[in-house]
Amino acid sequence: MKLLVEIDGQTHPLNRVFWVRYAPNGCAVGSCLGECTTTPEQAHKEFTSRWRDRERELRQGYRHEVVTKDQWQATVRPCFTGDCRHAVAA
Ligand SMILES: [Zn+2]
Repeated sequence: MKLLVEIDGQTHPLNRVFWVRYAPNGCAVGSCLGECTTTPEQAHKEFTSRWRDRERELRQGYRHEVVTKDQWQATVRPCFTGDCRHAVAA
């Protein structure tokens, strides 16, 4: 079975997308291949194993979203290379 995910009205195979973990300030702080999970809740679990910690992170504003490879290059990569402005704006 081929798993698909919808992003902005377009479907993509899960092996062509990335899950991204965003800190409350919008900065990407983690990512994994689309195949590592199928829902935002499961993606959160990949990064934070303890339920209590996940509850706290959700309250703090952590988000887990799926993005295309192009979006990853444009919006997530700068966060990992230190070229984004998230930390400055927060
Ligand atoms: Zn950033």
